[in-house]
Amino acid sequence: MHVVKIHPRGYCYGVVDAITMAKRVAQDPNIPRPIYVLGQIVHNQHTVLELESYGIRTLDGSSRLELLDEVPEGSTVIFTAHGISPAVKSRAQERHLTFFDATCPDVTKTHTLIQEKIRQGYSIIYIGTKGHPEPEGAMGEAPDGRAFLVTTIADVDNVPFEATTPLAIVTQTTLSQWDTQSIIETILVKYPHAEVHNEICLATQLRQEAAVQIAKDVEMVVVVGDRRSNNSNRLVEVVEQIAHKPSIRVESVGDLREEWFDGVETVGVTAGSSTPSRITREVIKRLETFAQN
Ligand code: SF4
Repeated sequence: MHVVKIHPRGYCYGVVDAITMAKRVAQDPNIPRPIYVLGQIVHNQHTVLELESYGIRTLDGSSRLELLDEVPEGSTVIFTAHGISPAVKSRAQERHLTFFDATCPDVTKTHTLIQEKIRQGYSIIYIGTKGHPEPEGAMGEAPDGRAFLVTTIADVDNVPFEATTPLAIVTQTTLSQWDTQSIIETILVKYPHAEVHNEICLATQLRQEAAVQIAKDVEMVVVVGDRRSNNSNRLVEVVEQIAHKPSIRVESVGDLREEWFDGVETVGVTAGSSTPSRITREVIKRLETFAQN
């Protein structure tokens, strides 16, 4: 079995910057303790554990606004690469918390776009993943009733806006570009006048395109990524749906099963933009061992 390492893969600049910011905050003795991250800094358990070793505590579970209430007075909070709604920032200011914002510039760009469109009188149809923090933050830029979340084509039926409402379609940064296109087309049948703003970031696009391209030359593709990583799950989807090749996601080398590769001669390996290189290297090394059997 031959292992093809797909490029680009793994950490994007937004993730690297967020982790660097968190470590710098933890190393500054003048910053109030304890230090919390509001949600996982990036969706990868290995990275969360690494930050714990710096004394950074991760609060995880409910909405960002609810999580903020768990941060004690006088402590420090870091906002993650996924972005936060203005309500979270205001609450942190009201409570006089020290805070640092690690929102990726590509996510900030989407927030700015939504602010502008709301100011111009538009309502927003936001295509994104239910329960993911990025839609929560971005849609928080719109007043109540002016933004609606669409995750699947079936959701389009439930979009409540009148046919004459000025509308902007805005996407989450880490979606599958192919899935998103079919959802946009369905929305445009219902609202032909809607403006389309595809906000899928370059890092996501390049990883998907490389995975689909290489998948054509291999028998299957292994994606290294956390189960909660939206872009890792989308990589599996695009390999299966666009390149029509089997794909599996593993979180680490411990998930690999040799029997999955029975009869497979060539496998491609990629990783989501929140996956540390060390974890992917371990997976590649183990797969190469299989290749020698
Ligand atoms: S995947 Fe894209 S939006 Fe998300 S952190 Fe990376 S560059 Fe930023």
